[in-house]
Amino acid sequence: MSYTVINPATEEAMETVEHVDLEGVDAAVALATKAQKEWARLNPADRAAALRRFADAVDGDVETLAQLEVRNSGHPIGQARWEAEHVRNVLEYYAATPERMFGKQIPVAGGIDMTFQEPLGVVGVITPWNFPMTIAAWGFAPALAAGNAVLLKPAEWTPLSSIRLGQLALESGLPEGLFQVLPGKGSIVGERFVTHESIRKVVFTGSTEVGKKIMAGCAHQVKRVTLELGGKSANIVFADADLEKAAATAPYAVFENAGQDCCARSRILVERKAYDRFLELLEPAVKGVKVGDPTLESTEMGPLVSKGHFDSVSSFIDSDAPVAFRGSAPEGDGFWFAPTVLTPTSRKHRSMTEEIFGPVVSVVPFDDEADALELTNSTEYGLSGSIWTRDVGRAIRIARGVESGNLSVNSHSSVRYNTPFGGFKQSGLGRELGPDAHLAFTETKNVFIPAD
Ligand code: NAP
Ligand code: MG
Repeated sequence: MSYTVINPATEEAMETVEHVDLEGVDAAVALATKAQKEWARLNPADRAAALRRFADAVDGDVETLAQLEVRNSGHPIGQARWEAEHVRNVLEYYAATPERMFGKQIPVAGGIDMTFQEPLGVVGVITPWNFPMTIAAWGFAPALAAGNAVLLKPAEWTPLSSIRLGQLALESGLPEGLFQVLPGKGSIVGERFVTHESIRKVVFTGSTEVGKKIMAGCAHQVKRVTLELGGKSANIVFADADLEKAAATAPYAVFENAGQDCCARSRILVERKAYDRFLELLEPAVKGVKVGDPTLESTEMGPLVSKGHFDSVSSFIDSDAPVAFRGSAPEGDGFWFAPTVLTPTSRKHRSMTEEIFGPVVSVVPFDDEADALELTNSTEYGLSGSIWTRDVGRAIRIARGVESGNLSVNSHSSVRYNTPFGGFKQSGLGRELGPDAHLAFTETKNVFIPAD
């Protein structure tokens, strides 16, 4: 089986990628199992050096990786370069881990007690199509650093940058079999990661629906799992905020990557007395978003990733949709979708509860702090969010009250490799990135040695 990759900005066929079948996955697991044992035995400084060489190889290939993401995923070139550099940064950051895999020495009677962080073995990483290479790196970099082997299954639609990363790993001298990229179907390669007994952990990023299936499947082997799932995040704007700045930045907090971002602030909640003024300020900001050819440096938003996804997003904008205003998008070939602002009158409107994963945002009013928190938390998701106010105490109260893993005040912070990232509630399980991510790829072992 194979899949022909389509450029979403032009609808042109790019290249055909051969899919790995079940036997191929099993062969890769066997190779990875062997490579992992040798990797874990290496001295920590040598493992660190190998990861730094991998980071250097990515650094030398930033432009190629970025161009692949422009053509395969439709990401604007400026964004795609950031993503490739981010992969390098994540590798560099976790290259420090092998020499800092500290255990604890715990005071006990009669001897010495200490803990070790042991690698799990082979880890399977399953990625979605929205940020193919960055999300892959969040899994493979700390997993390798902690002494594991990694099998990576990219999304069927967007495998090219991941395949390139697999080549770079080998070219940089990482042992054969230690990091393998296995393009293929979720129902074949992804499911085999869940059922294969030698794969000790699955890291999954994607829809909540598939994440639940993976968690249930992993339960049969008590297999470790990290899940990064959907979101319906809120951008909460109080009347005392810098409304000009809040409105000018709000489009980029939801329309970046054409809204195909699990952190998209797809609900803008505005204190009622500032609601009309905020919408007045938001309209020119939305109309000013530069949507177009992703190969141009000036482009801020590209197309949606595929025809199938275009149809899914379009289903939210039927003739009854409460459209307030829209930005612009190119006509003709490509899966283009203009930024769209909705003003639903019901808080239960579909656009307020479902993850659209496209450039569509709903703006609704709230009354006071308690109402803002109730509305914000009235979702099964809890991934990110923003809070706009000049009142420091209120910022703290709201930040502590929102049931979500990643918040920013008077800003819309994107992901940083050195801070933890992950979701509350049905947005996920576990945390990626930051100083502790490698621990999620280890088991703690306790050893006691008597003093007599
Ligand atoms: P998806 O359908 O859940 O797919 C994600 C990955 O899982 C793909 O590689 C897919 O393979 C694979 N897969 C599908 N069915 C599987 C199964 N039964 N067993 C194992 N693997 C399987 O999600 P998507 O459509 O790619 O991405 C959009 C969703 O991802 C959104 O809901 C979004 O919020 C979420 N997301 C969350 C985060 C986060 O960090 N929290 C980040 C990005 C995206 P195929 O390509 O073959 O289908
Ligand atoms: Mg899917």
